[in-house]
Amino acid sequence: MKALEPTLYDKSVPDRKGITLPELDVPLSEMDAALLRDDLALPELGELQVVRHFTRLSQLNHAIDLDLYPLGSCTMKYNPRLNEDVARLPGLAALHPLTDDEGSQGALALMFQLQDWLAELSGMTAVSLQPAAGAQGELAGILMIRAYHQQRGDTQRDIVLVPNSAHGTNPATVTMAGYRAVELPSDENGDVDLNALRAACNDQVAGMMITVPSTLGLFEAHVLEVVEAVHNCGGLMYMDGANMNALMGVVKPAELGFDVMHYNLHKTMSTPHGGGGPGSGPVAVNEKLAPFLPGPIVVVDEGADEDEEAPRYSLQMPEHSIGRLKAFHGNFGMHIRAFAYMSIYGASGLHEVSKHAVLNANYIRANLADTYLIPYPRMCAHECVISGQIRGAEEVHALDISKRLMDYGFHPPTNYFPLIVPEALMIEPTESEDKATLDRFIDAMKEIAREAREEPDLLLTAPHRMPVKRLDEVKAAKELVLCCKPALPPSAAAGN
Ligand SMILES: *Cc1c(COP(=O)(O)O)cnc(C)c1O
Repeated sequence: MKALEPTLYDKSVPDRKGITLPELDVPLSEMDAALLRDDLALPELGELQVVRHFTRLSQLNHAIDLDLYPLGSCTMKYNPRLNEDVARLPGLAALHPLTDDEGSQGALALMFQLQDWLAELSGMTAVSLQPAAGAQGELAGILMIRAYHQQRGDTQRDIVLVPNSAHGTNPATVTMAGYRAVELPSDENGDVDLNALRAACNDQVAGMMITVPSTLGLFEAHVLEVVEAVHNCGGLMYMDGANMNALMGVVKPAELGFDVMHYNLHKTMSTPHGGGGPGSGPVAVNEKLAPFLPGPIVVVDEGADEDEEAPRYSLQMPEHSIGRLKAFHGNFGMHIRAFAYMSIYGASGLHEVSKHAVLNANYIRANLADTYLIPYPRMCAHECVISGQIRGAEEVHALDISKRLMDYGFHPPTNYFPLIVPEALMIEPTESEDKATLDRFIDAMKEIAREAREEPDLLLTAPHRMPVKRLDEVKAAKELVLCCKPALPPSAAAGN
């Protein structure tokens, strides 16, 4: 395939330099020749060429800083710049992770406060900030459930129930934790089929993982009955809290009866994600599971001097901890950003965030209802799922709509997920967007539906205005090219 952009190697000019080193002010010392190699083919460029190269590359991608990014389930909300300023404060950014508790009281205070806020928001007893992502939080949660049953000698339990409206990571987590995932069907309203659930509940069940709101963007109507059924057979309830953007200040998972949940700070709390950057997936648990939390967690030192003004914090491993999941303290930079976000919004602000996220999703759903099929036409939570099957344009698929949306300057919604909706398009605008942006998106979706009927080729061959045209998706996934390989000088190539 022809490269889209010339690489830095293509642009390299022999002997061009990016920097000029100052005059040597120490004696020149000979280097051991064995430590030097001449096969290191580095591109030779000036600083300006490098800046332009990477700036141009960055412009080839869509980003939340450019326009709407309604990728359902991913909560691509605006990342406030204030978070970045706070995360760069030298006292936090330059703190060495091996600094002892005494020397890192400020950082520990921040983590303690964040643990406390996340506990408050969920109604849970204790929180660990260790997990590096939502999926790792899930694994922590199921490992805690397993440790809980094992400690009680309840070792015959080997099943975890997972509704078919769950996120794909849920059954994967169950398998990784050594359990068998048993799938539950949804009823005609998109809720868990209660009869199927009751039939599946027995003393083999270790617990259930449920995504609330579900990947259909729906709040489980019978959530209390679901929790009760599983508890009655001795199982524990895991809530996948990646969709907490719909629930802040609205509902506390612990009050619904959940035993454990995870947050995605890189979704709900606006810490950046995408590009494989670090995430953070804290787990929150009730009293039953608190002794099993992954650690270390931050605690207030008991018995500290009563006269001291500030509490003293230290790191502690919970009594029956499932262990460590991450080096040092988890992704501390993300804790800082989430802390900044939560501080600025406060309790009432976070509640407003959720209300606006739900309002925005319902605004889109209501405005697209006469153009697109909405498989579950009821009030949605923070995202809505529509079908990409357009009447009168049978050859057009959800993927074609998504590709065409790129020509309109929008990132596509999530495609073909959840699996239980044929041709699913899952749209999550987040609270960050104003009405004018939502209206532009709705207009584009309506225009695309018209194009689908009148000029379907426009969709079938889209995108037309992107740097890369329609890709062979299978080939792109199977023959992933992630880095450019320099052409090595002949001497080095011969040596290999
Ligand atoms: C994003 C997401 C996950 C996984 O979170 P990661 O941080 O990507 O590992 C799990 N469940 C749901 C519902 C999600 O949206």
